[in-house]
Amino acid sequence: MRTFQGYRVLHSNILGPGKGGIRYHPDVDRHEVMSLAALMTWKCALVNLPYGGAKGGVACNTKELSEGELRRITRRFVVELGDDIGPHTDIPAPDMYTNELTMAWVYDTYQALHPGENNRAVVTGKPIELGGSLGRREATARGCLFVVQRFLERMQIGALPSLDGARVVVQGFGNVGAISAQLFREVGARIVGVSDSTGGIVDDQVLDIEAVLAHKAAHGTVVGTPGTRTVSNEDLLSTQCDILIPAALGAAINAGNADLIRTKLVVEAANEPVTPEAEEILEAKGIYVLPDILVNSGGVSVSYFEWVQNLANERWELSRVNLQLSGMMSAAVDRVVDRWQELNRSAMQDSSEPVNFRTAALVSAIDLVARVTLQRGVWP
Ligand code: NAD
Repeated sequence: MRTFQGYRVLHSNILGPGKGGIRYHPDVDRHEVMSLAALMTWKCALVNLPYGGAKGGVACNTKELSEGELRRITRRFVVELGDDIGPHTDIPAPDMYTNELTMAWVYDTYQALHPGENNRAVVTGKPIELGGSLGRREATARGCLFVVQRFLERMQIGALPSLDGARVVVQGFGNVGAISAQLFREVGARIVGVSDSTGGIVDDQVLDIEAVLAHKAAHGTVVGTPGTRTVSNEDLLSTQCDILIPAALGAAINAGNADLIRTKLVVEAANEPVTPEAEEILEAKGIYVLPDILVNSGGVSVSYFEWVQNLANERWELSRVNLQLSGMMSAAVDRVVDRWQELNRSAMQDSSEPVNFRTAALVSAIDLVARVTLQRGVWP
């Protein structure tokens, strides 16, 4: 018998029921979950989803737990949450070190407590057979690709007209990182470095991503992939590249290493990977940062498609999912870039500080939540 500490935070339900992942990691605590729940509020608002923000987590180390133990932790967590989650109250999804199997257990436990109802919409990121959406597994990475493509169409970033031939480094080789590496490669980018929790690998020419995936599948690490050079995670981050994609933990780029970053654009595929201090340092070096609430919103967008399909007992074609995702991501980038231009025009007029893309994205999201709050009024 062991006790694990679990958390679920509903930050806002102004735009709709809460939505946010469940994370299993030893560092999970109340403050992290609160902060990530707030981030979900702004992310859902930025992409115009009918959701508020939420987040959950259990402080545990999945690498030391068996599948049976993880299943029992998940079931106990869902029982303790009771009706704090539900298809119209708060809808969890996967996050770090949870996956579609974890979501299957969430569904199954909730279903056992609410028999005789269509409960599929209580959780997203489920296996396809259990009502998961086609394209959900790749959604965050595909959304990240769509965001960067649209952003480069709209903004001239240091002789980088498109992803074709762009040198890209990816930190983290899980769901978001590994699939981003594959998708960016498919559109012509050159992936020159990747890493996971065990270390990094680089190839100054281009990495063979299929070989890295095969090595990771066989040995549980990217390190040692034949023909690559092993580097520390710190060295990976300072590898010269056009685009750096942190897709692992929060605070990966911080005041201690921001000065070493040599890239044109940092794409926040992970949540909160660049600390505020680091962002200031990057800005002073002329490096743009595309914020997490924009870059990784593809995940929650396809979660939304899954939820809509579940409520209607429908199954959409993959082409429909990806087309709708592409439209949503482009619209979100346009909202951010338009707002950025508008805010910077006014900043120039009254000689105030220029505004970055994170501020523009947050202003856009907070503006929507504020308007709806006023429309609804405060009651009781
Ligand atoms: P994951 O568990 O599939 O993968 C995490 C990866 O990070 C693993 O490869 C792990 O080895 C690596 N990693 C851990 N510590 C590291 C370190 N110190 N240095 C380098 N690599 C390290 O998780 P994921 O779903 O890919 O999520 C990654 C990030 O993206 C998280 O911040 C998560 O909140 C965010 N995110 C995920 C989704 C999603 O749909 N999966 C959606 C939005 C945001």
